[in-house]
Amino acid sequence: MSTHNTHLHIEGVSKNFGDVKALSDIDLKIERGSFVCLLGPSGCGKTTLLRIIAGFESASTGRLLLDGSDIAQTPPHKRGFGMVFQSLALFPHMSVARNIAYGLKLRGVSGKAQRDRVEELLNVIQLPSIADRAVSELSGGQRQRVAIARALAIQPKLFLLDEPLSALDAKLRDNMQIELRQLQQKFGVTTILVTHDQHEAMMLADELVVLKDGAVRQAAAPSTVYQHPADSFVADFLGAANLLDVGTYRGGEIQLLGAAVAIATHHPVGTKLQAAVRAEHIKLLPMSAAGSAPIGTIAFMRDLGPMNEVIVDVNGARLRVRGPHAECQGLEVGAQVAVMIDLAQMSLFKAAE
Ligand code: ATP
Repeated sequence: MSTHNTHLHIEGVSKNFGDVKALSDIDLKIERGSFVCLLGPSGCGKTTLLRIIAGFESASTGRLLLDGSDIAQTPPHKRGFGMVFQSLALFPHMSVARNIAYGLKLRGVSGKAQRDRVEELLNVIQLPSIADRAVSELSGGQRQRVAIARALAIQPKLFLLDEPLSALDAKLRDNMQIELRQLQQKFGVTTILVTHDQHEAMMLADELVVLKDGAVRQAAAPSTVYQHPADSFVADFLGAANLLDVGTYRGGEIQLLGAAVAIATHHPVGTKLQAAVRAEHIKLLPMSAAGSAPIGTIAFMRDLGPMNEVIVDVNGARLRVRGPHAECQGLEVGAQVAVMIDLAQMSLFKAAE
């Protein structure tokens, strides 16, 4: 990321709650106008980091630099950030229009300008005719859009969202993800969203920050994180990865599913390695085409809709394989198949101790 376009610099931020180390030494440069997703399992510290950025928590150590200025002393309401947190619900007794205009009113914006802005935002969220409705009459998806419009009304410097779509059903959630991304691009607002949903993060982010136990494991574009995960945790967390022990690197080759496979890696000789292979990067071939490929036995099959998933036991490892229906024709539980791993798509890591 280019340093001269950094909008928010999270510099060496740590946070302790008593003995709990919620965040340790987080260093991130968030580029102006980008959409950043903080992704990780429950308890990894993503909400804590967002709350520190918002100003609801203070960091134990480290600094937040917004356009180069330290904002530690600026209270949340003076930061000029737009927020959609689950805990910051809409005002149910107010109309949609008054909810959206709320921040503008606080800032002394004239009535006419408030009305114009509300109208503009209602058009943007594709709900032009609901200005006078009470929030309590809206569906979950409509409320979520109004909350997003309210946060964007003030033209926030940063747009912060904590699991904003988690209460919506799958279909609506999918649509809202597209809308949210389009809105963010339209306004060009620097956005930070917390989620534990890897599909949501892949869908929305320019930059994906994967957290575990309060530390950043990888920060990069979604495609980079997916194709070149930094470690086995990231590989496993994003998508259906198979993690395979491939023994100690002896130089030039590894042991993959019981067979020696020639491979070049930067890992030093003597390193204990692990491989990650995505389910869609394994092919199953009929025994007649096996050649020297490892042989496995099908333990389980299911139809996922757009593709099939097959579990194959091979030389003590259990592999998850996904592929088009056509590739699975004639396969059945108990049958033997040859297993072909796409080596170009495989990642190798130092094995966890
Ligand atoms: P989730 O997805 O479950 O919301 P998270 O990744 O957002 O998880 P945080 O809520 O940031 O995680 O919590 C990180 C760690 O800090 C957890 O171990 C949590 O128990 C702890 N923690 C968070 N807030 C507090 C608090 N106010 N007091 C004490 N411990 C806290």
